[in-house]
Amino acid sequence: MRTKDENIQIAELLFPDVKETVGDIFKKYPKRNIKEGEMVLRFAPSPTGFLHTGSVYTSMVGVKLARQSNGIAILRIEDTDKKREVEGGISLIVNGLKGFGIEFDEGPINETEQVGEYGPYIQSQRLDIYKVFAKDMVERGTAYPCFITDEELEQIRKEQEKLGVRTGYYGDWAKWRNATVEDIEKELKEGKPFVIRLYSTGDIDKSFEMTDRIKGRFTLRENDMDIVLLKSDGFPTYHFAHPIDDTLMGITLVIRTEEWFASVPIHYELFKKLGFKQIEYAHPSPLMKLDNEGKSKRKLSKRKDPEADVQYYIENGYPNEAIIEYFLTLANSNFYDWRIQNPDVDTNEFQLKLEKFNKAGALFDIVKLEDICKDYIATLSAEEIYERSLNWAREYDEEEAKLLEENKEYCINIFNIERSGQKIRKDIVKFKDSKEQLRIFFDTFFDEDSYEDISDRVDKDVQKEIVEKYIDIYNPDDDSTVWFDNVKKLGEELGFCSDRKEYEANREKYKGTVGDVAMVLRVAITKKTQSPDLYQVMNVLGKEKVVQRLEKYALEMV
Ligand code: GLU
Repeated sequence: MRTKDENIQIAELLFPDVKETVGDIFKKYPKRNIKEGEMVLRFAPSPTGFLHTGSVYTSMVGVKLARQSNGIAILRIEDTDKKREVEGGISLIVNGLKGFGIEFDEGPINETEQVGEYGPYIQSQRLDIYKVFAKDMVERGTAYPCFITDEELEQIRKEQEKLGVRTGYYGDWAKWRNATVEDIEKELKEGKPFVIRLYSTGDIDKSFEMTDRIKGRFTLRENDMDIVLLKSDGFPTYHFAHPIDDTLMGITLVIRTEEWFASVPIHYELFKKLGFKQIEYAHPSPLMKLDNEGKSKRKLSKRKDPEADVQYYIENGYPNEAIIEYFLTLANSNFYDWRIQNPDVDTNEFQLKLEKFNKAGALFDIVKLEDICKDYIATLSAEEIYERSLNWAREYDEEEAKLLEENKEYCINIFNIERSGQKIRKDIVKFKDSKEQLRIFFDTFFDEDSYEDISDRVDKDVQKEIVEKYIDIYNPDDDSTVWFDNVKKLGEELGFCSDRKEYEANREKYKGTVGDVAMVLRVAITKKTQSPDLYQVMNVLGKEKVVQRLEKYALEMV
């Protein structure tokens, strides 16, 4: 063991330029003036150029809990792995989350600007802070420089494997933990690269208790690994930056994905060694997905699942509000009942509770998500659908954007079909689907499609007769009852039956049902056997187009 003086000597050799003390740093980060129960939470992504769907989920949880408690939501960028970093990564996170209504009180607002008094909120701008704490730990003998090379580490691992003991840098295997001042000085003089490691005093045979605010109570083994705190490039590891940043920023609960749960013993030792009060944890389980035809569960994967990338929802124009609603259901399953009881209430009114989180893992199901999207879009007005489709199209579909811009009233009328009354249509999942709705109303698209063939149900010459006769009686001013009566009358005249039971009993007497007559008109006007309400479709198309299409169809029926 080294003496106190020796440790101070080593700290000075390692960090001659670090003059600030831990006390100086704490003065710059005074305790926050918050009331009991107000939560200060952070979302701490790495700017890798990819926004995972799970990040929206985790950040939504944190921001919502902070808002609910009248607390503070912080964004912190963890860019200490320079290899993984991507240019524009911060904007991608900030703007990506903003699109879902997830905004922070403190943190970066774009690539260059940050707001808040507890910054910088980008870890690469906090290197001086980590050094102060590293120096302090070395002085106190709780951390030390380690000059071991990768080859030596590999050698140690092989020996450990041969002996059948745990692999890693710990205990007697940690050859630099008790090195003399002279040994250290020699390496430094030779300019050898080094890392700073924790001088662990944990005992793997001892355990401690902790309570995760989501997962519950656990007994965990102590850490005994001399893990790296500062890398040779002066950047901190996640393990070192986490207690320092979360303490200085006054975080009241660390919410982070479950993959970090295994590191809790390291973090408990670090909080102690740094002299910090332990911050509580909540580890929500990651978003899972059914795999293998529903037989197994696995994590939603960036590599395998397009829906793991937030860009997927943005490019397809999924309504963000519905995604947030779905995430709330995944987080607290009682949200679903709440929504049914409060159909028109803003989601902000719902109280998310950590104790109600599903411990088994949140099963992400795109089909359920799409159902929620459909329901959500069904609550929008035709004008809203128009605006949001246009916003989406401006970014992703120039052709549709042009069409929407040049035909505003017409398009709103199209979106308005079956949008009032008892049965609201639910065929739009995402704003990208809006184009499909326009298809039958614009000749540019209409002309590309071919007629569905129904000649096996109604002979072509009969179809021709129906259409020609209908042109004569068609009056665009008729209301829907008169409209339908006319179709019925025409059908009856031409030998179709308007009573289903009668038709079933005496099929041979009829050419078909009035439904078949309507189908002929539908195909003539839309080219399809299925369409939104035909009366409304004809109203929106207008007399000229309707007649033109009927005439064209009659000509086809030869
Ligand atoms: N940067 C870490 C990650 O992206 C953050 C974990 C945490 O929230 O503490 O996984």
